[in-house]
Amino acid sequence: MALSPQELAQALAVIARWRTDAEAALDCPRCGQNGLALADRSARPYAEWYHLGCAGCGLDETIHIPLGPPVAGGLD
Ligand SMILES: [Zn+2]
Repeated sequence: MALSPQELAQALAVIARWRTDAEAALDCPRCGQNGLALADRSARPYAEWYHLGCAGCGLDETIHIPLGPPVAGGLD
């Protein structure tokens, strides 16, 4: 079950908050419940991956954030 555009925007906001304060209590982007689990699974410097899990609504999503300028024509 993919995130809706609105949920994705919420998820990115949660990730931004977590980056500034890793100890912050995070709200689920889907149900709004406090206690979202966030795991950084990034493969820097190529991309950032964040796993979001919520026990309240069963959210289990990985958010992909590409890093750097877009690469045209694939990887070299
Ligand atoms: Zn939830």
